[in-house]
Amino acid sequence: MSADDKFDAIIIGAGPAGSACAYVMAREGKSVLLVERGVSAGSKNVTGGRLYTYALEMVEPGLYARAPLQRKVVREQIMMLGKNGAVTMDYADYDFGGEVPQSYTVLRAPFDEWFAAEAEAQGAMVATGILVDELIEENGKIVGIKAGEDEMYADVVIAADGVNSLIGQKAGLLGDITPHQVGVGIKEIIELPDDIIGARFNLCGDEGAARLAVGCTEGISGGAFIYTNKGSVSLGIVFNPEQAGRNGKKIHEILQDFKMHPAILPLIEGGTTVEYGAHLVPEVGLSAMPKSLYRDGLLLVGDAAGFGINTGFIIRGIDLAIVSGLAAANAVIAAEEVSAVGPLYAKQLEQLSLMPNMRLFAGWHKIMEIPRVFSEYPALANDALKLMFTVDGSVPEKMTSAMFGIMRRHVTVGQILADGWKGFRAI
Ligand SMILES: Cc1cc2nc3c(=O)[nH]c(=O)nc-3n(C[C@H](O)[C@H](O)[C@H](O)COP(=O)(O)OP(=O)(O)OC[C@H]3O[C@@H](n4cnc5c(N)ncnc54)[C@H](O)[C@@H]3O)c2cc1C
Repeated sequence: MSADDKFDAIIIGAGPAGSACAYVMAREGKSVLLVERGVSAGSKNVTGGRLYTYALEMVEPGLYARAPLQRKVVREQIMMLGKNGAVTMDYADYDFGGEVPQSYTVLRAPFDEWFAAEAEAQGAMVATGILVDELIEENGKIVGIKAGEDEMYADVVIAADGVNSLIGQKAGLLGDITPHQVGVGIKEIIELPDDIIGARFNLCGDEGAARLAVGCTEGISGGAFIYTNKGSVSLGIVFNPEQAGRNGKKIHEILQDFKMHPAILPLIEGGTTVEYGAHLVPEVGLSAMPKSLYRDGLLLVGDAAGFGINTGFIIRGIDLAIVSGLAAANAVIAAEEVSAVGPLYAKQLEQLSLMPNMRLFAGWHKIMEIPRVFSEYPALANDALKLMFTVDGSVPEKMTSAMFGIMRRHVTVGQILADGWKGFRAI
């Protein structure tokens, strides 16, 4: 291909960010090449996962209804695991499963393949099995990509290549990943019959549950998740890689212990693990985002741009990736000249509420930096409830002094005050 025969945009990576971007640009008549290194879109992706529907609705109303989604999430569950027990908060909200359900569980292999095919149906050219290894730069502007011997040109290149964005690094917008910016996630898909999933998670029909757990990571910052799909559950743990490296236990051993915990085993017993994967997750939100999300001829979207929100009870990345892909597409469509694309992208990120959301949740990861959240507090909650519910015929200790004793076993008053203040300031 010559420089004269170029695309309006080349998008690197057919994850949700890249496919959303390609879909919208192609629909609006732009010539788009979507390049994916995997043999198919989704073949290289790992997620929890749950997808918030609003993002697909922003791309095209009703789009979610065509997507291969799993179960609509109506139960939000948080577990604090003790050694031999669990304190579980189970919030059922059937409004979440309303006319347009708020969120669905999702399996990325079928979802990403479907989304890339939808972009193709809008007119985008999708090329899989191609690893982009270089950017082509002319006079300080990105004008194309290199994949092996092939060179391809475009007015704008969009890096949708995920959390470890080599393209963003090659463009000089990103540095090397540091361990405090990301978590390492390992995940299994465990097949189980639908009626068993329904009974174990208290679900009817196509309802789903999203469960997060703390207290299962050997004190390492991180937590576990279980999402119910159709005919399977997705189960995994996300760790701080630096702390995990210092821990004596191997990561897969910690995952195994989690699965064998007496409160978790009954949920997955009899199931068959059919997939196993590991991936990085952007963890700290705004503070890990690059100073600029664009330069002349290049935009960063999705995980490559650092769009991730983890509040401890909600993990978001897919919806933010889709909205940032939409923002990039809108910018390319609206720009009268290439130099206007970057600033228009920044404006779109504001208008579509992405940056305001990132700013609002900017401090939440600081709660995840309180080490006691991952060991002492879950243990304390379990001990406190054990005390309240134990009846063995003996005269129990007076509740107030017993509770105080439990608290002192795990934390000091000073630590509670300091953690409370840190948590309050973070949110
Ligand atoms: C364990 C785990 C649990 C998670 N749970 C959730 C959850 O429940 N909900 C949620 O919203 N988010 C969750 N996330 C985050 C979510 O998965 C990401 O935020 C989301 O996938 C980002 O989408 P993306 O399109 O930016 O990047 P990706 O999905 O990573 O896609 C990038 C694509 O680019 C391709 N690519 C990379 N480099 C190249 C190259 N050089 N050339 C060609 N192609 C390339 C890759 O193969 C890939 O297909 C989780 C993540 C992990 C790891």
